[in-house]
Amino acid sequence: MLGIIKKALGKLFSAKNTVPIAIEFKVITSEISEEEFSARKTAAAQIRKEWRALGKEEQLKILSQRARERSLAVRAHQLELRIAEAVWLYSGAPCELYPKNPTGHQNAAHKDANGKRYKVIEGMYLDGKWTWPGYEEGCRCVSRSVIKALDKT
Ligand SMILES: [Zn+2]
Repeated sequence: MLGIIKKALGKLFSAKNTVPIAIEFKVITSEISEEEFSARKTAAAQIRKEWRALGKEEQLKILSQRARERSLAVRAHQLELRIAEAVWLYSGAPCELYPKNPTGHQNAAHKDANGKRYKVIEGMYLDGKWTWPGYEEGCRCVSRSVIKALDKT
């Protein structure tokens, strides 16, 4: 049985058009009943409705917290992998918690940091404090790890 599934999946993933994706979708969704699938779609719509009901301000706060959590996780991974340096990458979107009411300072500093290297352990000194990409409220920056073996600059 497992062999048959592996063979079928192999065919799906080796094909280069969109038809196999539809077949794959059917394979996945056919594992549950139509009623169950319909119930899941209703649950998904409810989750989206709850998210919209939070309002823009609350959504932005949550997204900011998520970015900080990701920033901490990325830094922990970098340190565990002995990555000493990273490159600051500005997203292009303003680093402001509420982009419609910008304070300006943080965004300008983060924009200037784009492409610059920093030590993972200490971060970068921006706008009067040591920080890391994605760590500050409203920051949408990310980092690119510097891998010594691949480093040509
Ligand atoms: Zn930023």
